[in-house]
Parts: sequence; C-alpha cells; structure tokens
Amino acid sequence: MNTVTDPGDLPRCDVLAVGPHPDDIEIACGGSLLRLRQQGASLCLLDLTRGEMGSSGTVEDRDREALAAATALQAAARANLGLPDTRVTDDDDSTARLVAAMRAVRPKLLFAPHERDVHPDHTAGAHLVTRAHFLAGLRNYHPELGEPHRARVLLRYPGNHPVEPTLVVDISSVADQKEAVVRCYQSQLAPSDTGHLVQGLDLLERAIIRQRAMGALVATAAGEGFVVDGPLAVDELGWLVETPTDR
Ligand SMILES: [Zn+2]
Repeated sequence: MNTVTDPGDLPRCDVLAVGPHPDDIEIACGGSLLRLRQQGASLCLLDLTRGEMGSSGTVEDRDREALAAATALQAAARANLGLPDTRVTDDDDSTARLVAAMRAVRPKLLFAPHERDVHPDHTAGAHLVTRAHFLAGLRNYHPELGEPHRARVLLRYPGNHPVEPTLVVDISSVADQKEAVVRCYQSQLAPSDTGHLVQGLDLLERAIIRQRAMGALVATAAGEGFVVDGPLAVDELGWLVETPTDR
C-alpha cells in the first residue's frame, strides 16, 4: 500500500473511491470494495480533505487510521487531495487536482458521495466529482494533466440523509471484515462530549444500521446502497436471470 502525496502519481487501478474525509469511503462502500478486491479488482482511495476540522482526533490520528484502513482494504494506494476541510468547492484548482488523479488512476468504476447530505463538504464533493468526471474526459482540458479518461460507471453513495438506492450490493459475506476496517478509525469511534457524533450514534453503529436497512431492501442481512449516475450500459445479460443460488 502506497501513500501518494501527488495525486498525479497514483497508480492505475480498476476502481477509484473518492471521499470528502478519511472514513467516508469505508463507511459507505467498504463492503463493496472488499467484494471487488475478492474478485481481483485493484483499488485506489482518494480523500478530498484530511478532516482537520473534525471534533474528534488529530489530523495525525486520522492519517494513521486512514493508512491502516487502506491496508485492511488491500488498496494499491491512498492519496489526499489536501482541500480545506469544511471549505470544499468545485473551483478550478480543486477540479484540476481531481482530474489529475482520475487521469492517473484511469478507473473503470468510480465511487463518489451523493449530493444530498447534511455535511456541506459531501454536497460540494459530489459537485466537484461531477465536474472533474466530465472534464477528465475532454482532450483539450488541461492536457498537461494526462491523457483524457472518464470512468465508465459512477456510483453515488448516500451519507446521513436517506436516499433511494438504484443498486444494492450484498455485503453480508464481508460484513465482519467491513466492521474491522471501520474500526481502524478509533479516534472517530471514541465517545465525544462535543456533539460531533451525528444523530447521537457513533460511526460504526450508524454504518451497521444503514447497511441493515439497505440489505433489507434486497432481502439480505447487510447491503450497501448506491445511486447509479446516468444510464448503466449492460452488455452481458446472464446475471439478470441468475438466481443467487446459481452463484
Ligand atoms: Zn465526511
């Protein structure tokens, strides 16, 4: 696992997961990433900020925890875009930095936050990904940042607001592993008297409640829900008529 300081130095990977703060990726799509790794997909993680405005834990704590979580996910690399926590925007500089990362990783599948979220960085991060995802594919947009590339599939993960998913991944077989990954963020699990913990529940408890609710939608013990951004092109139809017992 490599920690990369320049996003343009990230290695090529099948999957790029983008999170506004360290821990967002793991909570929202840790199980799906574990399943993708089981299928041999390579994985790169990109945090937009270092979470320096968080009420719990120091930046150093969060850097260390993010590294441990990336190792547990068997990610090829993790990088941080270094945007200011609580002040994420889709300005030109931020967009160019994210485009450089996308063109370096050249993912087939991109995970990004959904815009409907209580935290303004998540909403802004969603817009930033929208902008960079499109512009990364334009040949004449900052050609010095690398060859144009646009991921084929973009999946949006919900935050704290309920969002109707259009795709639910069954993560019941890796739920314990996902819990171990989320537990890497000990500074965020610790009790807080500052009101940081959203809705009075700690991060792991929220993740478990959410994945049970998502799983219930597709009759499995644990799931992760996503909104497919744009129509999904389907070439091979076999999986549509498979039953779970065929697998
Ligand atoms: Zn966050």
